[in-house]
Amino acid sequence: MKRRESVPIEIENVTKTYGSMTALDNVSLSIARGEFVSILGASGSGKTTLLMAIAGFTMPSSGRIRFGERDVTLTEPHKRKIGMVFQNYALFPNMTVGGNIAYPLRLRKLPAVQIAAKVKRALQTIQLDGFAERRIDQLSGGQRQRVALARAIVFEPDILLMDEPLSALDKKLREQMQIEVRHLHQDLGLTTVFVTHDQREAFTMSDRVALIDKGQFVQIGAPSELYNRPASRFVADFVGQSYFLPVAVSGDEASFAGQRLLLPGPLSSPVSRQFLVIRPEYLEISEDDPRPGENILRGIFKELIFQGESSLAFVGLPDGQDIGLRLSGRQVESIRNLAFGSSVNLALAAEQTLVLP
Ligand code: ADP
Ligand code: MG
Repeated sequence: MKRRESVPIEIENVTKTYGSMTALDNVSLSIARGEFVSILGASGSGKTTLLMAIAGFTMPSSGRIRFGERDVTLTEPHKRKIGMVFQNYALFPNMTVGGNIAYPLRLRKLPAVQIAAKVKRALQTIQLDGFAERRIDQLSGGQRQRVALARAIVFEPDILLMDEPLSALDKKLREQMQIEVRHLHQDLGLTTVFVTHDQREAFTMSDRVALIDKGQFVQIGAPSELYNRPASRFVADFVGQSYFLPVAVSGDEASFAGQRLLLPGPLSSPVSRQFLVIRPEYLEISEDDPRPGENILRGIFKELIFQGESSLAFVGLPDGQDIGLRLSGRQVESIRNLAFGSSVNLALAAEQTLVLP
């Protein structure tokens, strides 16, 4: 496949209702030319509805969708120049691999010579050279999904849409395919919208992630932004693992267990019920005195579980919560002499001290 000019997508105030049910609630999103954006959310949050609206299989109740300068809100799906991949492949099982990939080209009535050349190139792109004559039922799950991908890009669409295409694959293969999809995107530069409920999958492939809940975007940003600067407790909870410790707020100060917390900036909200959001990997078990610019949480070392590539250490905090810390082999070595039941200091850098309502 050669690299080609893709188009930006503009989603403007799109709402979709089914009777009294609101599947999409006034969502807006600008996707740049060649950008890879994932729509991330729990089951029933509205991901598929949004993708179907972009594809043209679902008409928004209100709002507009544009591909570049072109308003496609009322355009039929087959005139939108989009390639699509779904979870259940939707390949023709009794056709060959080549027949499946050629299908969209035959629909578009391309000459046979051109079809053959494009199919050959698509097979190279997905690294299934020489598989043209295989039947679909002779392929593994990963190979089938690659064929579905080839069929979606063979007619050189403007945009690629994917709805949980990897969720039927086992973990190892899924992770391998995520890297392949990422590389394919880097090679082709196609504007891509990828739907998934899996945070790590979204992070692995995307330039930006749009987190959706009950038909509304709750945060849109680069993976590191969602992870390190979650806009709300919901985001911090959905993206990665977090512990939430209630803090006392007075004025612009927050304290935990009677100790004032050093914060990276002013509190985002003046409300009194707020939480210290802890990513376990932000904490460092420390036996030393606190260094400047860090907060110290005092806890009791309770348990250490060896899990292979890393270990899990549980530390009880003054509010009664146990926090599980993931430790590398070297970190475990450094606390080798620490007895269960003894007190430990957990150091948390001020810039990673996040307090949210
Ligand atoms: P997701 O893909 O995130 O799991 P969907 O977009 O499929 O979520 O669905 C969002 C909400 O809209 C769900 O509550 C679902 O039941 C509802 N919904 C989707 N399609 C229809 C439909 N054709 N008729 C009625 N309700 C629908
Ligand atoms: Mg869905």
